[in-house]
Amino acid sequence: MAKKQFKAESKRLLDLMINSIYTHREIFLRELISNASDAIDKRYYKALSEGDTGVSRDSFYIFLETDAEARTLKITDNGVGMTKEEMEKNLGTIARSGSLDFKSAMENAEDKDIDIIGQFGVGFYSAFMVSDKVTVVSRAEGSEESWIWESSGADGYTMKEGAKEETGTEVILVLKEDTEDENYSRFLEEYTIRGLIRKYSDYIRYPIRMMVSRSRVKEGTESDGKPEYETYMEEETLNSMVPLWKKQKSTLKDEDYNQFYHEKYFDMADPAKVIHTNVEGVVSYTALLFIPGQAPFDYYSKDFEKGLSLYSSGVLIMDKCPDLLPDHFSFVRGLVDSQDLSLNISREMLQHDRQLKAIAQRLEKKIKSELSEMLHKDREAYSAFFKNFGLQLKFGVYDKYGMHKDLLSDLLIYHSSTEEKMVTLSEYVSRMKEDQKFIYYACGESIEKIDHMPQTELLKDKGFEILYMTDDIDEFAVQMLREYEGKQFRSVSSEDLEIEESEEEKEQAQKQEEESRELLDFMKETLGDRVSEVRLSRRLKTHPVCLTTRGGISIEMEKVLNAMPADEKVRAERVLEINADHEIAETLKRVFEEDREAVRKYTEILYGQALLIEGLSLEDPIAYTDAVCSLMTGK
Ligand code: ADP
Repeated sequence: MAKKQFKAESKRLLDLMINSIYTHREIFLRELISNASDAIDKRYYKALSEGDTGVSRDSFYIFLETDAEARTLKITDNGVGMTKEEMEKNLGTIARSGSLDFKSAMENAEDKDIDIIGQFGVGFYSAFMVSDKVTVVSRAEGSEESWIWESSGADGYTMKEGAKEETGTEVILVLKEDTEDENYSRFLEEYTIRGLIRKYSDYIRYPIRMMVSRSRVKEGTESDGKPEYETYMEEETLNSMVPLWKKQKSTLKDEDYNQFYHEKYFDMADPAKVIHTNVEGVVSYTALLFIPGQAPFDYYSKDFEKGLSLYSSGVLIMDKCPDLLPDHFSFVRGLVDSQDLSLNISREMLQHDRQLKAIAQRLEKKIKSELSEMLHKDREAYSAFFKNFGLQLKFGVYDKYGMHKDLLSDLLIYHSSTEEKMVTLSEYVSRMKEDQKFIYYACGESIEKIDHMPQTELLKDKGFEILYMTDDIDEFAVQMLREYEGKQFRSVSSEDLEIEESEEEKEQAQKQEEESRELLDFMKETLGDRVSEVRLSRRLKTHPVCLTTRGGISIEMEKVLNAMPADEKVRAERVLEINADHEIAETLKRVFEEDREAVRKYTEILYGQALLIEGLSLEDPIAYTDAVCSLMTGK
């Protein structure tokens, strides 16, 4: 019989499987069983949607059979089966998920909406990781004929007519010979199979059955004190059929949850937190939620889809239900299972479902309380979480005009000028100094840069703590927050820090200002529109100059906004501050009396320096360097 060739993509995958780079060969069994279970799901739903109420879940099964001599492992199901065309299409081509096709067919036909667990794994081809030959015998539902598909790997497959009497599919593997590295024979052993089913397929909702050997006392030998034993075969269901989330919490270990998480979400890292909760009440549900230990690579892109899987009494009704999660907690993965939801509920109906809304609200609260607990009990773990998803929480604060800020503000943490670890707003407020009115914060590119900002000098000197912020969204979120526990936020770069001063200090400052009035006005005139004012600074200690801003837009915000595509650029209203206690102030005053032109140059240089400190570029770098050179050479 002529061999048919696999499609190119399939051939490549097959090569991979055969020369398996894969270390976990054992997962082939999970994949084949999951296919069998999907096929049964399809048959079951098809019957339901065609109004056949006679079908019972109990009549479905998956059967395993081994033959040590022939080295075969057979997996039989009584699911939908495949027609000849389907076999060619599904087994001859990868990336052509039959489950997907089925779903779209169902949607068009009946306006029903059922997600089949289209578990994207390595799929059917994984069989070749352990087999020399794979035979699939299948009879599609409603069909009179059955077909046999056979392949020994990459060189193609053959098809011929079969004689299968029951609807469903048999997959027969001829296992490879054992090698030094791999013992394939173990997949023929009851012990191994039992273990694999428990590990990977325990929650499959149909019984996975197998003939197993048992031992019993031989009849007639129990009475004479020397009982003899005999082995006999008996059919046993190997899986508990109880999904993990339906099991008693006390019987589950961390590794059970982790294993489930890895399998289901293809994430190698353990989850940072597992939330398994059972709620009884007006709406009853079980939720199993995971906070990932690392952000998915596409998390902060528009490709990322949030949502939890939704089950109704153990049956999946939607793979990713977005309405169950608010955007600010979109990183949470997991599922909700509720008996109060109808199996045939459509996507549109779900959106307006009151019970679903109630569940979503409770989940939001639960996630917040679990995060709070982590925040207070394990700051290190929380900081790691925050590194992954803190940005999302900050977006959450800013989003929808601050609608969720009260919920989220307790979950924010920041670097601090006085603490090693990241701190919460509540911790900050609790240790504010008596004469401190505001929550001070500083924005910049990096913690190190912020730490050296001249604007922070006075505050540090007074012993005031400063929160350090490095994310673009930070200042926008802070403006949305406005205050925390009654304390307003104030940027270290804002024009007025409103630090309480003694009468003496005030008088002194006023005097200095008056004495320098003419000089300051001259400098302002030199800089023109570039600054709103030039004034003496009360916040600088050692640095000669800095820029501060007036009004709602800071320099950091200006940078962020101008980095976005927009026609109009924004500009923060700048104030140039000169340190009155710095030698430079004296110099300026002296030179102002002697040489006005020189003061013009100095002003340009000082303004340039202030821009550089802010991480802004010089407006005229050549004029700046010329000015510096002319100073150095005295010309
Ligand atoms: P996936 O399951 O991700 O779609 P697979 O490679 O595992 O990919 O399987 C390809 C397709 O072959 C399935 O989608 C399904 O349509 C079909 N198939 C595989 N195993 C069976 C089975 N036991 N019964 C019916 N159809 C099956």
